[in-house]
Amino acid sequence: MRRPAAGAVARLDRRSARARFGAQKHDDHGSPRDFEKLIRRFLARLIPGRPVTSPRLFGPDAHAVRRSQISRAALDVTRKLQQAGFKAFIVGGAVRDLLLGFQPKDFDIATDATPEQVKPLFRRAFIIGRRFRLVHVLAGSDTIEVSTFRGRQAGEDASDEHGRLLSDNVFGSQAQDAVRRDFTINALYFDPVAETVWDYVGGVADVKAKKLRLIGDPVTRYREDPVRMLRAVRLAAKLGLRIEKKTAAPIPTLAPLIQNVPPARLFDEMEKLLLSGHAVESLRSLRQHGLHDGLLPLLDVILEQPLGQRFIELALANTDERVRLGKPVTPAFLFATLLWHEVLASWNAAKAKGERPIPALFAAMDRVLEQQAARLAIPRRFEAVIKETWALQPRFEQRSGQRPFRLLEHPRFRSGYDFLWLRGHSGEIPVEIADWWERFQRADTAEREAMLRPDEGPKKKRRRSRSRGRRRPAESGNSGSPSLSEH
Ligand code: ATP
Ligand code: MG
Repeated sequence: MRRPAAGAVARLDRRSARARFGAQKHDDHGSPRDFEKLIRRFLARLIPGRPVTSPRLFGPDAHAVRRSQISRAALDVTRKLQQAGFKAFIVGGAVRDLLLGFQPKDFDIATDATPEQVKPLFRRAFIIGRRFRLVHVLAGSDTIEVSTFRGRQAGEDASDEHGRLLSDNVFGSQAQDAVRRDFTINALYFDPVAETVWDYVGGVADVKAKKLRLIGDPVTRYREDPVRMLRAVRLAAKLGLRIEKKTAAPIPTLAPLIQNVPPARLFDEMEKLLLSGHAVESLRSLRQHGLHDGLLPLLDVILEQPLGQRFIELALANTDERVRLGKPVTPAFLFATLLWHEVLASWNAAKAKGERPIPALFAAMDRVLEQQAARLAIPRRFEAVIKETWALQPRFEQRSGQRPFRLLEHPRFRSGYDFLWLRGHSGEIPVEIADWWERFQRADTAEREAMLRPDEGPKKKRRRSRSRGRRRPAESGNSGSPSLSEH
């Protein structure tokens, strides 16, 4: 097992003697320290974010992360790899979150073992991915992702004409693996056995300073992968970090590069952003950096109208609250809210031209989704839910006869109602309608009957005979409680 030299002594970082972090030196390759290396290391110290080939080691006295904070499964996998003579670390977001005092979502492992060397060490392990291969180790209900250190691809087909990296699948040293990562705080390695943090890029200092800093030259790094601009905004909002000046500066100019990113990847990133529990802050920051244009093209138009702004802010604030309380939220609902005022505008325009309301609504829904798909691909399975949520809205206006009972039984009632609530509380429709439905859900049958409005809706013709065949007349029944299904 390759480990830090036994003689390495923990040394307090003089520039931050008051802080709880300290450092050890370690030569990654065990080669003699020549003059050039010294100079390079010296420069790297002066310029945080500039990569080095030898890491600084922070022992257990120098940071607060303990192996007890790592999941059993991740710890077992790391240990086993190390026992087999390989390097193995917890890496990326988990180390960052732990150092910042947050609970990580998952624990990824990086190693110098190739996928073929990793797989046989575990009973249930699978090599996944074609271009970029990694191993999934199954342990109980946990899946631990083990990836081999990677470097950067050289040569002409490595990037497109804007500098965007097209592949990321060449094995490399640990130092190379560190510098191909995005932010300094995302490039830290934690050895849970020795409880040591390995830092090649000044990430520990940036954690302390609560700074989000790209590794290397920001313009080049954003060109390589424009999604990093979104990640900067999202991670800063989520973790309460400041985007370091040089990292923030090129964003407004490079923002249009977002349009070269495959729409499915943008969706994944936006989904993370919206469900981070810090969506309000993230969206504000996206606008501030001029990044929203490529993602939600009409967002500015919506946010300029007071009603649209209130609706979206309310929706996002609600989602943030749910995420923080650990309640389920779905991206489909959120995208339905983000696009609703576009649908409304398009629908109202069609109605003003004399189109019939319901067909006009469906046509408006399709127009908006189609327009959106060009920028950020909302997966089909979400589209169905989004459309259903929108299509239910006119039905909440009908509060006479059997119609409210039927709506109550609709599988998407809850989601439709939550959406209606936002419309009411943002001032788009009278809040009285949302309140009525709130009471109607909770009421018992007799109370519900008493709440019904006189039949003011359009006269049904043959509709009754058709619906009788399909559904039982609603007997709302015994339970006065609202549907428990979540949107
Ligand atoms: P989250 O908490 O949202 O999962 P994360 O940083 O763990 O944040 P992942 O997408 O899980 O995000 O990525 C894991 C690690 O892979 C990151 O910490 C970073 O080191 C590296 N990484 C992710 N995306 C990029 C990128 N676009 N460019 C370079 N490195 C990246
Ligand atoms: Mg992660």
